[in-house]
Amino acid sequence: MEYERERKKLVNSLREYNISEKTLNAMKKVPRHLFVPSVQIANAYVDHPLPIGYAQTISAPHMVAMMCDLLDLQEGLTILEIGAGSGYNAAVMAEIIGSKGKIYSIERLEKLAVFAQDNLKKAGYSNVEVICADGSLGLPEHAPYDRICVTASAPCTPLPLIEQLKPGGIMAIPEGKAYQRLYLIKKDMEGNIIKEDRGGVIFVPLVGDHGFNMLCGDR
Ligand code: SAM
Repeated sequence: MEYERERKKLVNSLREYNISEKTLNAMKKVPRHLFVPSVQIANAYVDHPLPIGYAQTISAPHMVAMMCDLLDLQEGLTILEIGAGSGYNAAVMAEIIGSKGKIYSIERLEKLAVFAQDNLKKAGYSNVEVICADGSLGLPEHAPYDRICVTASAPCTPLPLIEQLKPGGIMAIPEGKAYQRLYLIKKDMEGNIIKEDRGGVIFVPLVGDHGFNMLCGDR
């Protein structure tokens, strides 16, 4: 009950970012306190990124909301997420796309992949599958995807992700190292790519074959 009150307050505060009612309603349903480590539960409904261990973070709620809106999520879509982290972003997207949709969420750190899948199970999201792999390569076996949501910052747009996006599909991806921008990439029905700059952001690095080089000792 206490969590529900805090969640409502947080979600209402996101209106200042002009978030759609569809996304706000989804966020009202997702119990963020089930997606943070126990030491962070008191901060679960603060609009901040929080540490989830292994030098990684769960993104701030306003960033999750903005990415969902940019991706123009609809019921029944198939989504590829890169960077499962806590599983929270996937849960919000799962609320919007409903039980007819499907999310494949890739996480490169095994312990976080397990953390994300456990959290999603606890919260009751059965249409999200977490896979431990290098998401900079995408997930060709289930391609093409209606939407691709990248939650770690890439040096440039990974080619496999562009290839695995459906014609008419949309990808949101942060790019850059110290200076990062969020890009919205649209593939039209002829396969042409349109890339729009949606402003400055701060994400952890995308590490992998089409990401930044492997960080020493972080596996
Ligand atoms: N979406 C997450 C959530 O809701 O908690 C937050 C993700 S966190 C900002 C970024 C995640 O991307 C980290 O967990 C990191 O380990 C992961 N990551 C970085 N490079 C990756 C790659 N090549 N493939 C898959 N995951 C990657």
